[in-house]
Amino acid sequence: MNRWQLLAPFVLGCLLACSSDGADRDQTGLLDAEDVLPEPDDSGRIDSISVDIATDAADVTPDAPLGPSADALAAFCGEGFEEVEERIDEALAELTLSEKAALMHGNFPLPTDGTWQTNGNEERGISGFHMLDGPRGLSRFSEREGTSFPVAMARGATWDPELEYEVGRMIGAELRLHGADTLLAPTVNILRHPRWGRAQETYGEDPLHVGIMGEAFVRGAQNHVMAVVKHFAANSIEDTRLEVNVNATERTLREIYLPHFARIVRSAQAAGVMSSYNQINGEWGSESVFLLNDLLRDEWGFVGFVVSDFTWGTHNTVPALTAGLDVEMQFPQIYGQPVVDAVEAGEATVELVDRAVRRILRSQWCFEERTVDSDLTEFESEEALSLARDVATRSMVLLENRGDTLPIDRTTGLTIAVVGSLANETNTGDRGSSHVESTSVITMLAGLQDADGEAIAQVQTADVVIAIVGYSEDEEGEGQIAAGDRESLALPADDIALLVAASSLSDRVVAVVISGSSFTTADWGDDVEAIVVAWYAGAAGGDALASLVFGETNFQGRLPISFARGDQDLPPFDNTSLVVEYGYFHGYRYLENEGHEPLYDFGFGLSYTEFTHGELVTEQTNGSITVSVNVTNIGNVSGVETVQLFVAAPGVAVERAPRDLRAFTQVELAAGETKTVRLEVPLVDLRYFDEITGEWALEDGEYTFEVGEKTATVAF
Ligand code: BGC
Repeated sequence: MNRWQLLAPFVLGCLLACSSDGADRDQTGLLDAEDVLPEPDDSGRIDSISVDIATDAADVTPDAPLGPSADALAAFCGEGFEEVEERIDEALAELTLSEKAALMHGNFPLPTDGTWQTNGNEERGISGFHMLDGPRGLSRFSEREGTSFPVAMARGATWDPELEYEVGRMIGAELRLHGADTLLAPTVNILRHPRWGRAQETYGEDPLHVGIMGEAFVRGAQNHVMAVVKHFAANSIEDTRLEVNVNATERTLREIYLPHFARIVRSAQAAGVMSSYNQINGEWGSESVFLLNDLLRDEWGFVGFVVSDFTWGTHNTVPALTAGLDVEMQFPQIYGQPVVDAVEAGEATVELVDRAVRRILRSQWCFEERTVDSDLTEFESEEALSLARDVATRSMVLLENRGDTLPIDRTTGLTIAVVGSLANETNTGDRGSSHVESTSVITMLAGLQDADGEAIAQVQTADVVIAIVGYSEDEEGEGQIAAGDRESLALPADDIALLVAASSLSDRVVAVVISGSSFTTADWGDDVEAIVVAWYAGAAGGDALASLVFGETNFQGRLPISFARGDQDLPPFDNTSLVVEYGYFHGYRYLENEGHEPLYDFGFGLSYTEFTHGELVTEQTNGSITVSVNVTNIGNVSGVETVQLFVAAPGVAVERAPRDLRAFTQVELAAGETKTVRLEVPLVDLRYFDEITGEWALEDGEYTFEVGEKTATVAF
């Protein structure tokens, strides 16, 4: 059933009834590090020191409430924020209660002129929101074709926030050209289990990595439109997403499921946040006082608007209004007249309504000033397609390359067989809300054919067999309106049979796997010579694959998620129960904590060259530990290394993960070249959330910093 069919009764109902803070990532107010940390010795080691910084909570807490302070408003709105606030004061004084309530909900179950709209008020200069998904480009709800970018999981595999900024900017530009002002993206829910149907829409499993990529996307998009970060929070099961109650401790939420939202809201000034369908510790996402008020507004200083997830995301008028839901989408069920009734009955105050309207007007009016037109004049422009190609090329991950099967040297006249039911499919991902219609998608087969002048051969006679296998919209996607959660981590049975058969006929089989998250390789992984994860690679995926397998471009993608050997090594994935527990551990943290060897590790990816790392040198800088490391390209071709810094905390005060990603960067190196890379870890990022005191705390003890095969210790 598609969304249109599902919405039919609502459309009819609506036809009858529809009426009408933060500053840059706060690294100030931290430790007075010069007083606390001594200089490192020659080996980079900082000797033990006795200052008890863990108890100095005031110093290590950068999350002081910003509230709607002048700073928060200026950061969100720019210098003209006072004028906007005054204009809002005037509007609130003049609007009637029902006029105010009319601004707080979507105005029709279906898009109007290709956007999901809320009411405006022309007389008062209020335009309303014109929203559109989404995470991989201009949504098909626009009824227009747009550029299909590789899905966010693929973009996560680039580990390149600068590139992600460009993707956000281009998606924002296409939306604006279409007439939308609000982008329902990015999706930044943490991938807890690889069977999650919308895995492809997010960037990965690690909160730091997801936060950095999401922040870049929002910064880019908000040149042209408002961005709405979603789904707040712990939305990582599809089949029960509308009802499931996710229980998790406050520590688990704050350390694993929320820090990236905080980063994006505080550092990138996202205009909007979308609440999740699911419940969190017994409260609906759209009614969670803890999430929407205490954390988002009071602690993180968010001054933009909160919008519900669509159709099924709202439940009760007064609780939603009280928690801080500002906009109900996409047509009035609990807002509109029920808001007026609640105020008139004395169940809600007009101040609560004014608060919501203020946030709505602030977002609209501030971003009317902040955003600009781009110079884009057409959809699917050459510039956009070339960006999509670049991203796809940088996102594909080489997992195996036995006997240097890749790259394939075209000059030697090798013959190639391209097989697999997905080889010539336009397979750009889920057909739920993130779906993008594109006029031209270069399939894997087309890309390989374009690049390879030779005739495509039969498996039996070919020198190399490239098998395009994996998933499609039929196996994974959004709940209710698309395929929902994936049933298994194994590849579809036909694909396994194909890989086994091809491997029995050829000793040079390259498996190219299309997928939104991880998969297992039992029964075929040892038989093929090379494995490439292509993800859903967008409009130019075929070109990207060809340039990589023929060696025109070096592989540089790294896994943004860990690959487990099977379900038995993962936390349970329960997409039938209506109450689930999210424990502290998942992903690489879970595998390492349980002692399970991953099939492929988080952050892993081969290249046509190799990199080595020198000894780590640690030093103190302004409340941070900086790690310097020499990275050398020891191979024969140039390449890009993603340098990942993990830190193992003492784990004495509370149980910690064996190691956490704390920083990463990229460096391009010519063959034989060495460069020094510096990675900075703010000490506040090493803290844990102490549930007894309700504060963040930095424990004493020895911390191990790890880059590749090298480690260094720092003791506090
Ligand atoms: C999805 C949201 C999306 C909305 C509008 C919902 O089903 O969960 O992510 O933004 O639809 O298309």
